[in-house]
This record gives sequence, C-alpha cells and structure tokens, in this order.
Amino acid sequence: MDNVYGINLIPDNDAERVAALDRYQILHSQKEKAFDSICELACDLFDCPISHISFLNADTEFIKAEVGLNGLQYVSRGVGFCAVAILEPELLLVEDTRKHELFANHPYVKDFLKIRFYAGAPIVTPDGYIIGTMCLIDTEPRKLNEKEQRLLKKLADVAMEQTELRQHNLSLLQEREEFIAIASHELRTPVTALKAAVQVLHTHQGNEMPPLQHNMIEQANRSVNKLTYLVNDLFDASRLAARKYTLEKTVFRLGALMKDCFDFLRVPGKPELLMEGDLSAEVYADEKKIEQVLVNLVENAVKYAPDTGTIQVRAEHMENVIRISVKDKGPGIRPDQLPHIFKRYFRTKNGALQTGLGLGLYICAEIIKQHGGEIGVESEPGKGSTFWFTLPVNGT
Ligand code: ADP
Repeated sequence: MDNVYGINLIPDNDAERVAALDRYQILHSQKEKAFDSICELACDLFDCPISHISFLNADTEFIKAEVGLNGLQYVSRGVGFCAVAILEPELLLVEDTRKHELFANHPYVKDFLKIRFYAGAPIVTPDGYIIGTMCLIDTEPRKLNEKEQRLLKKLADVAMEQTELRQHNLSLLQEREEFIAIASHELRTPVTALKAAVQVLHTHQGNEMPPLQHNMIEQANRSVNKLTYLVNDLFDASRLAARKYTLEKTVFRLGALMKDCFDFLRVPGKPELLMEGDLSAEVYADEKKIEQVLVNLVENAVKYAPDTGTIQVRAEHMENVIRISVKDKGPGIRPDQLPHIFKRYFRTKNGALQTGLGLGLYICAEIIKQHGGEIGVESEPGKGSTFWFTLPVNGT
C-alpha cells in the first residue's frame, strides 16, 4: 500500500474493523438515493462544493456517495483522507490543509483537487468500529463552529443508520430468497409424484366411472398441472437469480424447436398458432432453455389474448442475430407498465387474468440475457403485443 502520510494508518483493531464493515455488504455497491441525498444535504447545509460518504476496507477507500467529485469511486487507502479520519473517533477538522503537517504536501492539496479544507466525521457501528467517514471538502480554507461540527457528526450518524437499515433489508431479501429456494425444491418431489399418480388415474378412467368421480379426476388433473407450473416457476426463478445452473449449448434449427412447441401447445378452440420467417435458421444455444422461453411467450399470448384470432411466431435472420417474435392481437400492455414487465413478480393490473406469479417473463429475460441476447416487447393497449428476443447467430 502506498502511503503519502508517512505515519502508521492501520489501527490495531483493523482486521476486526474490516470484518465489521464486511457485515454490511456495502463495499462496491451501486449508487443509492438515500446516501446521495445525505451528501446533497451536507453541501446545502454547509454551503460547500464537495461532500462524500466513504467506507474504508484493508486497502481501499470506497466512495459510496459524493457531490462534486465527478463520480470518483475508489481511492487507495494510503492516499485518501478517510484513512486518517478513521484513526480517531472524533471529527477530523483541517481548516487549512496547507498549514497542516500531514496534508500540506498531499498530492490532492498541491495538484489534483487543490483541497484547502477538510472535515471528516467518522461513521461508527453500534459496536464501536469506525467503518467510514462523512466528509466535507472545500477549495478555500474555512472554519466549522461547534454547532456545525455537531451537525456533521449527526449526518455521519444518519449515514450509519441508513447503512444498518440497508443491511436489514438485504438480510430480509436473502432470507426470502433462501426460503423460496428450499421450499420450491422440497415441493418439487411430492408434486411430481402427485402429478404422476393423477395422470395414471386420468388415463385409466373407464366409461363406467360415475360422473362425479370423472369430474373430480378432471379437476385434479387441471389443478396438479397448474401446481406443477407454479412450483417449477418458483424453482427456476430462484435458481436463475442465484445463477445456479450452466447452459448446455448445442447447434439446432429454430424451425424444429418451434414445431415441437406448437405440437405441445396447440389446443382446439384456442387461437391459431402460425409459424413464419426463416425456419431453417440455426442457433447455438441451450435448446431446453430456449424452448422454455418460447413456450412461455406463446402460452402468455394464448392466456392473455384467448379470443383474438391468430398468434404469429416469427424467426428472422438479422445482421448478427436471430430474432424470434411472438405477436398477439390481445389487450396489449399499458405504456407505464411496459418498463416493469420483465421484473420478478411483476403482474399487470389491467383486469386481465391474474393467475400466475409474475415469474414467467422474468425467467425468459434471465435465460436470454445469459445467452448474450436481448429481450423486449412492443405493445399498444387494445391492439396487441409483440414479445421478441434475439440470440447471437453462432453463440458468440
Ligand atoms: P404470469 O406467470 O403471472 O403470467 P409473466 O411474467 O408471464 O407472469 O407475465 C407478467 C405480466 O405480463 C402478466 O401479469 C400479464 O398481465 C402481462 N402479460 C404477459 N404477456 C402478455 C400478453 N401477451 N398480453 C398482455 N399482457 C401480457
């Protein structure tokens, strides 16, 4: 680690301090509004051009939020001011950097940012570890009175509370994720057994069976099929989110895959399914997964546009990709709902049948993304929807 200060920057409890920081899973995370707002508030309150919230691990200062630093995200621990500020539980106040023995020759003071004023309030965990700083920076020397110092410390406390809250939410999400993974996995075995048993009953029901029993078997068959879909969707979505599977790619003809899907999905009295375009096109992809995507899109079209004539499935060879589209003339999707349509658990609220978990399109999107393709939808309320996805021509 380079060290521009010439003093020891590593406190005795640094390993425990870094472990405490790791608990919060905040390092390298995306920008978040709540932290940005604290920095904006700091700049407004103190009429100061620069403020930032940083977290410090063993060798790097990670800038979680900033105003006035042009998106700067990382600074080496031996160079950033934060490394000095975390050495004491008190506010580090440098009214004029040029007159401060540690900072006078610092490259950020002499060249890079021309920092003249620095105030860093430590961000301290409830169990006493200093994991980061809430900082104010100015290019002019300045002072902070006692009240202002208290305010800056208070902002550091708010940043800590936000970090705690964020971690709490993350833990809840992780628990939910684990629960869904375990529950859907455990449900699959009995559901598969149940489905097999009901199928045997369904296929072997004789003519002499009383109507009540016959109806009950029909009902059981429909319900167990529905249950299988739901459990499989939950299981697939949870594995995809955790990236717990590998693609098994081969070269195959799209036309053949489309025909298989159609044979599986075609039901008398339901919309007619039409296959169009370049059916001889070949792709290099995981055939089972692409079949799952296509079945899902066509099933949605059948489900959400049941009485609307034909559903067109089209394969087109574009420049470097094959584009597959599924077009229906159903109710369409409202423009405000379109940006969310591929999100996990999202279901539209336009009075359409609400029978799924809102996972089908999420599963499709994850599968296509993992193939390096794109997925999208064009839709106009009252006119219909065209869902499409692309696959790289040769899998590259
Ligand atoms: P679900 O399993 O609940 O159907 P999906 O992820 O497949 O979940 O779909 C999400 C939402 O998108 C659904 O609630 C449905 O309202 C809407 N949707 C999907 N396909 C169509 C379509 N072809 N036409 C209109 N709405 C659709």
